[in-house]
Amino acid sequence: MQRWQREINITIGLVTPALVTAYFVGHLSTLLLAITSFLLIRQTLAINEFEKWLNRGGFGDMRHQKGIWGDIYYHLWKLKKTEKKRKKKLSRMVEQFRSSTDALPDAAVVMNRYGEIEWSNRACHKVLGLKKSDKGQRVPNLIRNPAFVQFLRSSDYSQKITIPSPVNENLTLQISIVPYGEGLRLLLAQDITQLKSVERMRTDFVANVSHELRTPLTVLKGYLETLLEMDDGNSSYSRSFQNMAEQTERMHLLIDDLLLLARLETKQRNSECVNAPELLQQLCHDTRLPIKDAGRIQLSIASDCKVQGDEQELHSAFSNLVSNALKYSPADKPVNISWQQDQQGVYFEVEDFGEGIPGAEIPRITERFYRADVKRNHKIHGTGLGLAIVKHVLARHDAKLEIHSQVGKGSRFRCHFPASRIC
Ligand code: ADP
Repeated sequence: MQRWQREINITIGLVTPALVTAYFVGHLSTLLLAITSFLLIRQTLAINEFEKWLNRGGFGDMRHQKGIWGDIYYHLWKLKKTEKKRKKKLSRMVEQFRSSTDALPDAAVVMNRYGEIEWSNRACHKVLGLKKSDKGQRVPNLIRNPAFVQFLRSSDYSQKITIPSPVNENLTLQISIVPYGEGLRLLLAQDITQLKSVERMRTDFVANVSHELRTPLTVLKGYLETLLEMDDGNSSYSRSFQNMAEQTERMHLLIDDLLLLARLETKQRNSECVNAPELLQQLCHDTRLPIKDAGRIQLSIASDCKVQGDEQELHSAFSNLVSNALKYSPADKPVNISWQQDQQGVYFEVEDFGEGIPGAEIPRITERFYRADVKRNHKIHGTGLGLAIVKHVLARHDAKLEIHSQVGKGSRFRCHFPASRIC
């Protein structure tokens, strides 16, 4: 206010003598015009000086002016000083962020909505082969792996993909993409080579042990069968032979399932157009089915769609679900099997009217060796690997397993294949 007072005082100091003079000699308008012109020129000169000061980037030196211009200079100088401090702090933060992301072992790339590189860290060079000079280039032009390009194009980034490193085939990378901001995407590539090799060692170990166990078990099974044939059923060993035969059979099934799982984890994917309706017909009329179960199956083929995949794997997944439905429901209840099409694709469904599965157990029953309601299951033989096999087979066919179950009413297992799999 004090500064404004000075400006007002100057104006009053000029206008008052002019009014007094005009009272005695006239020419009021000329005098007022002269005063206005003087004030205008004064302000124009001040603005000119201010503009020059700004042009010089003159914030460095503080201008000591009187009146309102002094205030303006002071405020601007203070603003600039705060801004300078903020900029310094910000650039320090950016520098810290840069050095921390450069120290990261995982590669990180920021892409804009067109897939062009906005920023990348140092690890990108080592694992993805991207250089600092690649900034502005489109990522799919630099990393040409088809699975990666397809993943980048899709808008569903809920899953991660695994690809070999474009610079070193021996490195396995797990890629994830996180969309953020306005059309920006953060690509993260993690080197999982070691994890993969441990996983491979585990699979190889299980496969080798299972394979090695199979031969002695077959010999044992053969001897037991001979003993059972020779036994008239009245000896004191009859029950023991029977038990031993049952247990060796169980072990045989367990080894078969373990070997199948190991194969699913390591085998190359085979892709042919599988006639699923025909496969289901065969499965339901399988002569190996117990006589008591054969009549319980009700098959409904509502679609003639075929699916792209591996026939043997699909057969084993479907038969696991059918045999579970037969196993875990009373012998006088039907088991409905259907093959149907919907908007998302095509699905195989098995419905039974058995005891069902408690809700809390549903997420766990596809885990290896997990058997729900152990007390009840004690009487029903199983390896606990059937649904793990189903899950693996479906994952290899881009299909999903949906499980609906109500205790006391029954269960419904649905294998949903996407439309892209129909052939
Ligand atoms: P298992 O060899 O024990 O049948 P699975 O992996 O096939 O192994 O199934 C895992 C568990 O899921 C089973 O032990 C059982 O408790 C439950 N389950 C699977 N299918 C059904 C079904 N149709 N009805 C009720 N429970 C089921």
